[in-house]
Amino acid sequence: MKIGINYKEKNAIVADIIVDEALKNGFELDDDNPDVVFSVGGDGTFLKTVHKYIDKLDKILFVGINSGSLGFFYEFSKEDISLIFERLANKSYKIKEHALLKCVATYKNSKEEIFALNEIRMENPFHTLIADVFINGEELETFRGNGLIVSSTSGSSAYNKSLGGALIDHDIDALELTEVAGISNNVYRSLGSSLVIKGDKKISLSCKDSNAVVGYDHLNIKKDDELLKLDVCYSERKVKIIYSEDHSYVQKIRKSFVL
Ligand code: NAP
Ligand code: MN
Repeated sequence: MKIGINYKEKNAIVADIIVDEALKNGFELDDDNPDVVFSVGGDGTFLKTVHKYIDKLDKILFVGINSGSLGFFYEFSKEDISLIFERLANKSYKIKEHALLKCVATYKNSKEEIFALNEIRMENPFHTLIADVFINGEELETFRGNGLIVSSTSGSSAYNKSLGGALIDHDIDALELTEVAGISNNVYRSLGSSLVIKGDKKISLSCKDSNAVVGYDHLNIKKDDELLKLDVCYSERKVKIIYSEDHSYVQKIRKSFVL
């Protein structure tokens, strides 16, 4: 079995422990074609780790080693590293899958296909964004404001939560549409609250905007073109994460937001 490691420089000591344990247990190191990838850091680091292997996700198992407080994608701390290798050697581990969002971004002169673990964002930081919102082709509303995001359940605790969106248990099959500063006055109004729908649906955001920015996870599309439409739904791609026996979503929420 081949091991890859992704970490921020400040966590190099933890990465060294992983290397030592891997070699001690007869594993090979291979960051290019790994079977198991350790991500050391926080949720932001996990997103970067996933995008590094975005085209190879079906072949890889991820393990999150948290450097500080508990993260949403992190199940283990550095004290657990030798235990994890024991479990890898015995093939005795529990896996949870996080489906990625797929977005087709249509511009006046081109198209892009992107994948995201947390969310897809359409935002205009300069002028009011005007976007028509469709769910499975059915018109919902015309939105005016700073932007709209489509979050996965995995991303519901990220930007979505800061915008007032609901936290959704990762085990629920759902998509969440959340507004960024929607205008609500006597002339214009949009839904105002987050909308949670079944995960098999497609959310389309249609606009005509040369300044709209398309963001996804820690990334964004850089393009000098007029954005016309985003079509967002869940993809077939899944991030497979090794979970701890005593995994608890409630504890994650409590440790991240309450304590
Ligand atoms: P980043 O610094 O890597 O992340 C921003 C914060 O979001 C960090 O505290 C990070 O946790 C946390 N985070 C990321 N994914 C999360 C998840 N699924 N559940 C709970 N917390 C999560 O920022 P970035 O590189 O610009 O963007 C990456 C992600 O950050 C985006 O996908 C977006 O969701 C989120 N973000 C949030 C805000 C906001 O809340 N206002 C603004 C911009 C971006 P760690 O500290 O553990 O890394
Ligand atoms: Mn971070």
